[in-house]
This record gives sequence, C-alpha cells and structure tokens, in this order.
Amino acid sequence: MGLKIAEGSVSSSPVAGRRHIIRASEAITFASAIGFLNQGVILHGTQKNYTVIHKNITQFEILGDTAEALLKQHQSVAILPDYRAHKTPSRAAAIRALCEKMAQRLSTECPASRAPGFGHVNVEHGLPCSFCGSATQAITADIHGCGRCTHQIRPPRNHALAAPEWCDYCNQ
Ligand SMILES: [Zn+2]
Ligand SMILES: [Zn+2]
Repeated sequence: MGLKIAEGSVSSSPVAGRRHIIRASEAITFASAIGFLNQGVILHGTQKNYTVIHKNITQFEILGDTAEALLKQHQSVAILPDYRAHKTPSRAAAIRALCEKMAQRLSTECPASRAPGFGHVNVEHGLPCSFCGSATQAITADIHGCGRCTHQIRPPRNHALAAPEWCDYCNQ
C-alpha cells in the first residue's frame, strides 16, 4: 500500500526589498541594516536597456568599491538582498525548520494503522460567529490524517468564536 506525505510552510520574509542608491555609503548602510555579511546582497547598475549585476560580494570594502564604480558608470544603481537560500539566513532557517517538521512527522505513527507520517492534512472552516452564531470561513479545527488508512483526528483551534467580520451573514 502506498504512503503519501506532504509538509508545507509559508514564511514571510523579514528581509527588505531593493533600494536605489546615489552614494556608495548608502549601499553600506543598507547592507549593515539587513545583516550583511550573513545576508548576501546584490548590486544592480542600469544604463539605458541593460543591467549589470554584481553578486557574491564578500566584504564591506568590496561592496563600497563596487557601488562606487557602478555609480560612476550607470544612470541608476540599486542594492537588494540576495534571496538565494544560502545567502539568506532567514530562508535557510525556514528550510531547516521544514526538514525538522518533516522528520518529526515521519516519526509520528498513525494511532490506527501504525503507518509513519501521521500529521496535518487539512483544516476545517466554520467557526461560529460571535454575533449571530452562523458558521463563518474562519478555521475551527485542524485535521490530522494518515497517508495509509482513513484515520483522522480533529484538534480544535483555540478560538471558540469568530469575530463578526469573518461572518458572511453579518456582512451582507
Ligand atoms: Zn493509519
Ligand atoms: Zn454573524
């Protein structure tokens, strides 16, 4: 019999977006603010319709010099975080957490069939509205299931009632 297990994660990146710079010192300020050298940065220099990209900058000094050179040669220069996983500690941490979650899940047995990988498979909507009591789109419980048999458990979420703003009836 087959076994299907999926584990997911959504991480909102706490890292800043791109910033246009007009002085090399702004590149240094931006880089230190986002945690360079642990967090990698990329420099973009744009001239009419082409962009030069500098990656793998390993020192503040090189960053400053590169920014300086780009500012001399290009109309527009921007600095941005390098989102490749090994250059982004927050993403690397999210991937590591996901691996741990997966390992944790694989070590959880189904209480019914003893198959490995018992865990979160879905959510149940329909938390009652605190104002009128009708079922809302808010999540009322998580559903944990087995990859091999049909056994499921349904641990409820902590909220007993949903705020009326989630209620279709109250918002008609
Ligand atoms: Zn099972
Ligand atoms: Zn309502």
